[in-house]
Amino acid sequence: MGKEALLFTVKRPDAVMVKGDGMYLWDTTGKQYLDFIGGWAVNALGHSPKVLSEAISDQAKTLLNASPAYYNQPMIDFATALTQYSCFDKVFFGSSGAEANEGAIKLARKYGAKFKQNAFEIITFEKSFHGRTLATMSATGKAQWKSLYEPKVPGFIHCPFNDLEAVKRAITPNTVAIMLEPVQGEGGVFSADPSFVQGLKNLCKEHQLLLIFDEVQTGFGRTGTLFCYEHYNVKPDIMTLGKGIGGGFPLSAMLCTKELDIFEPGDQGGTYMGQPLAMRVGLTVLNTILNEGVLDNVNRQHDLIVRLLTELQSVAPITNIRGKGLLIGFDIDGAQDIAAACFEKGLIINACSPTTIRIIPPLIVSDDDIHALFGILKPIITARTGL
Ligand SMILES: *Cc1c(COP(=O)(O)O)cnc(C)c1O
Repeated sequence: MGKEALLFTVKRPDAVMVKGDGMYLWDTTGKQYLDFIGGWAVNALGHSPKVLSEAISDQAKTLLNASPAYYNQPMIDFATALTQYSCFDKVFFGSSGAEANEGAIKLARKYGAKFKQNAFEIITFEKSFHGRTLATMSATGKAQWKSLYEPKVPGFIHCPFNDLEAVKRAITPNTVAIMLEPVQGEGGVFSADPSFVQGLKNLCKEHQLLLIFDEVQTGFGRTGTLFCYEHYNVKPDIMTLGKGIGGGFPLSAMLCTKELDIFEPGDQGGTYMGQPLAMRVGLTVLNTILNEGVLDNVNRQHDLIVRLLTELQSVAPITNIRGKGLLIGFDIDGAQDIAAACFEKGLIINACSPTTIRIIPPLIVSDDDIHALFGILKPIITARTGL
């Protein structure tokens, strides 16, 4: 009832969610769901964690919103912490991943205008996902979006992922940056090869290009290190964060080196950049990840999930188990039907394509939760496809 008031954008089941706690969600009928999507790789610390509700209520009572025109202390504290724990020197805050990526695209174009004879083209990748604003949709390499919302924002060249030769061929005097997700999340959990990333870094040096990592999904502990670039031994020039950075609160960030501190007044902004409530939340998420053994848990639970999936391969046609940390994918026919059957049984998992299941739980997932996942998943998979 009342659902007709919502503009249709996505097919949803009838359930209406009312409560969340840790790994669980509840709907209006009292049905409980074990949540291995975690708000779409967002609820890093689980549903309604006490540290966040306390930080939110404390900050809401003190200073909810100042104005983007003034400094506030949580903004300074959080930016300082992000520069301390990453290879970057400067931070711009926004509210969504797409907004952070828009900032990165603008910064690259600004750099091109200032230092590279107005170069503006950005090389991005097939199957990539960078958001839903017009520019980030244009950057995205989703085949289904090719003909949507024409004309697209110009200046994006899409190359096959992990194909260094294709990138070399795509570079022209107009190229200003290369932008990638170190692990493609929405596209099906595909990791960039270390040699590919190293090759991109070398191309960037050679041609004076910026390397942009979209870590909206891979950042903030998701892949077992605080940021995914740490796996690759390269320093990008720009990195974007979203999703897990706010643990469920709308928050994003774009980080860059001090050489890229080149915006002039009026070039970039936003009403909610550095909004104190969001800043308190982000700082709390960061401190919890760093001080509560969260990264160790991510790595341990990665190994457990991969081990149990590998065991499941002896009774079910599961292939290509892949991913880093708690961003794990595997292939199986009928993935969407399997995810729907799991939902009926009170388990939330994501089919990111008709043949791929993606597992992106909160980073605090326990051994028991994982055994519960397999307790529901295994009979559903073997009943459909048992060997
Ligand atoms: C989700 C996602 C985005 C978009 O973030 P929004 O908050 O939905 O705007 C961008 N890039 C990647 C890699 C993502 O996973």
